[in-house]
Amino acid sequence: MSQSSKIALALHGGAGARKGRDYSKADAHLYGLAERGRDMLAGGQSALDTVEELVAAMEESGLYIAGKGASPNNAGYAELDASIMASALGEDGDNDFKRNAGAIAAVKHLKYPVRAARAVMDKTPHVMLAGRGAENFCAQNGFEFVSDPEAYYVVPVGVLPHEMTQAELGHGTVGAVALDQAGRLAAATSTGGVFGKLEGRVGDTPLIGSGSWADEFVAASCTGLGEYFILAGGAQDVASRVLYQGATLNQATAALIKDVGRLGGDGGVIAVSREGEVAFAWNSDGMKRAGFGPDQELFAATF
Ligand code: ASP
Repeated sequence: MSQSSKIALALHGGAGARKGRDYSKADAHLYGLAERGRDMLAGGQSALDTVEELVAAMEESGLYIAGKGASPNNAGYAELDASIMASALGEDGDNDFKRNAGAIAAVKHLKYPVRAARAVMDKTPHVMLAGRGAENFCAQNGFEFVSDPEAYYVVPVGVLPHEMTQAELGHGTVGAVALDQAGRLAAATSTGGVFGKLEGRVGDTPLIGSGSWADEFVAASCTGLGEYFILAGGAQDVASRVLYQGATLNQATAALIKDVGRLGGDGGVIAVSREGEVAFAWNSDGMKRAGFGPDQELFAATF
């Protein structure tokens, strides 16, 4: 296994922040999670376990449009998507790598979608489960569903998108990317999707390559209008630009977001590289984010 004592982490809580609004609660939450992630990685835990834990913490916080904070679809209930991916180098360096991924899509009222995505990765020969089959898989594997959706969700179940105020709209997907001491990279992303989405609509978040990507060089997680991230290539596009074009991580993330913008979309992306670079790019007013790296002091910010 390739050893690098460098550790790095980036988190996002969505790129739907609007100027003039107060995100101090989310900033403080993300700062605390970045510290927790630093402790996990510094203590030798894997990038994979770290991104799963941090995304699960964001899902249960109610501060983002994921998990407890998820918004209902146009039929009035929350449908959740999540993905997770990890890579590792073997004895033979770049010729000997492993990748693994799992995802769930359009699952109703699941409490920790990212943990279910991890279970798809660990316990099945598949990469993605969707809809009723995914719900059955989650139930069979003991994953918790929200027992009282009326009481649990921040945006009440049954509220239809057209009944919501503009202030409630925005992208609030959550994501985490990390580099661990063994040089392994991981990415995880979780969402309730976009406001006003049709029942059954699936965006970029659970798609490996679009919402999340982690190869041996780069891990990335996206947030924004998912349709545009799918059309622009999403998280894997960042890694490809680094690998094939020799772009820096900053250039690669900026280039993806430029393409998303050209197509008419908005949103953001976070990424880490196996060298420990950390990058954040967005074209909306702001992106709730936090992170640290060898050359990046731990921080949290929205604008
Ligand atoms: N990307 C997510 C989706 O399209 C939404 C978001 O990032 O807020 O489902």
